[in-house]
Amino acid sequence: MATPPVPVSAYHLSPDEAQPLDTYGRSSNPTWRRLEAALAELEGASAALAFGSGMAAITSALRVLTGPGERLVVPADGYYQVRRYAAEYLAPQGVTVLEVATAEMCEAAADADVVLAETPANPGLEVVDLHRLAMTCRRRGATLIVDNTTATPLGQQPLSLGANLVVASATKALSGHSDLIAGYVAGSHPEMMAALETDRLLAGPILGPFEAWLVLRSLGSAGLRFERQCQNALAVAMLLRNHPAVRGVRYPGLPEDPAHEVAARQMRRFGGLVSVELADASAVHALVERSALLVASTSFGGIHTSIDRRARWGDPVPDGFVRLSMGIEDTDDLIADLGAALG
Ligand SMILES: *Cc1c(COP(=O)(O)O)cnc(C)c1O
Repeated sequence: MATPPVPVSAYHLSPDEAQPLDTYGRSSNPTWRRLEAALAELEGASAALAFGSGMAAITSALRVLTGPGERLVVPADGYYQVRRYAAEYLAPQGVTVLEVATAEMCEAAADADVVLAETPANPGLEVVDLHRLAMTCRRRGATLIVDNTTATPLGQQPLSLGANLVVASATKALSGHSDLIAGYVAGSHPEMMAALETDRLLAGPILGPFEAWLVLRSLGSAGLRFERQCQNALAVAMLLRNHPAVRGVRYPGLPEDPAHEVAARQMRRFGGLVSVELADASAVHALVERSALLVASTSFGGIHTSIDRRARWGDPVPDGFVRLSMGIEDTDDLIADLGAALG
C-alpha cells in the first residue's frame, strides 16, 4: 500500500525533551529513510543517504573524502561538472586533481589517495575493470568512489566489486521520468556514512520529501523500464554498427565493443545508453528532424528515446558525436523509426 510523503520542517517534540528520531527537516525525514533503505538494498550497501541532486551527492563525497595535499583522480571522459568541481573548488583547497581517461584509471590509481571512477563513463561509455581498480586502490590504501549513474544498481553493484562508496544521480534511469532531480550515496562503512550525513546536515543539499517520495514510487517500475531500455539499446547498437551514415558506435553490450569482455564480467545489464558518431553536427540535426520518436534533450534515462550532441556543451568529443538514451518505446517501432530517419 502507498505511504504518503511527509513534508515537514519542524517536527513536534515531546514536552519531556526526550531525544527524538526526527527534530528538523534538514537532518532527517521518514520519507528519506524509506527511500534510503530501498537504495541501500539495491546497491548491496548497509546504508544510503539521499541528496538533492547527483552533484550534491558527489560533491559531498569529494569534500568529505579528500583533503589538502592528497591526490584525487577523476575521469577525463566522465561527467564534466565533476571535473569542474574538482578543478574550481577542490584544487584551490590544496587537493591535487588528476584528470585521467577511464581506460587508464587502473594505472593512475596506483599513485592516488582518492579515485572517482565512472563506468560506463558518460558520454563515451568506456568501461573500467572495477575489481582490478578496487584491488589497486586497496593495495595503496586509496579510497575508491564509483559513480553508478549510467549503469544503475540494476546493471552493476560496485560495492560488491570492492568500491568503498557509490555515488549516483537518481535523476536519470532510476527515477526515469525526466521530472525531478535527486542523488544518493551508498556504502557500508559506518564512519564514512556518518561523516557524509554530517556534511549533508551542515551544507544542507537535501532532497525535498515530495521528490524522495516520487523516486521511491519510481523504483517500483525501474526494473521494467531499465530492461526495456537495455533491450532497445542493444537493438539500436546493432542497427547502427554497420550503417554507412555511422562512423562509430560504443555500447558495452555489443560483443565486438572493446569494453564488452570487462563489462560482461561486472555488469548484469549493459544499460540504456549508446554513443554514436555521425559525420557532423548537421547530420545529427537531420536525424532528429526526420525521426518521429527521437527527442533532442540533454540528460538521459527517461521513458522517451533522446539524443544529445555533446560537443554543444563542450565535451571533448567530435562534432557529430551523440549520446542516445533509450526510452521504453516498443523496440520494433524504435528500430523502424531510426532506420528510416538515418536513410
Ligand atoms: C547527471 C549525472 C550526474 C549529476 O547528476 P544530477 O542529478 O544532474 O546532479 C553525475 N554523474 C553522472 C554520470 C551523470 O550522468
